[in-house]
Amino acid sequence: MKCLECNRKLGYTDHKNSMDELGVELCSEHRPRIKKLMLTNNTPREAIQLYYGLKEAGVSSMLEWWDGKKSIDIAISRVKLNIEIDTEYHMMTHEQAINDLEEAMHSFQNGFTTIRIPHVLIKYYLKETVTNILGIMEGLRVHIKAI
Ligand SMILES: [Zn+2]
Repeated sequence: MKCLECNRKLGYTDHKNSMDELGVELCSEHRPRIKKLMLTNNTPREAIQLYYGLKEAGVSSMLEWWDGKKSIDIAISRVKLNIEIDTEYHMMTHEQAINDLEEAMHSFQNGFTTIRIPHVLIKYYLKETVTNILGIMEGLRVHIKAI
């Protein structure tokens, strides 16, 4: 039970609060920072879980990265990969769908790839999700080299 940011040991209460609030282990100093970020950007907690899941796999990414038009849930700049967490995909309207497609077009035009991941996938298959993202990164890396 250690803070994922600073490796500080977490007591029972700290650990419990952090898991209840965020689903990841963070100390009393780092927890408020993430909560503030979530509140400001309306970040789903699955984005936080994926961010730390990637971090544990050795991938440094950015939470709520501003791409000039909007804030991206998670961005992996090395391979120009943007990850958006879909929280309400079951309620998607055609307006949302065309907005998503337009956003995807803009990011492709800027050399970025955007993938959308349903939040339940992170909730139930975090490890597999991370493994697949690693595979996507590898593919993008090869592709970037080829250009
Ligand atoms: Zn900490």
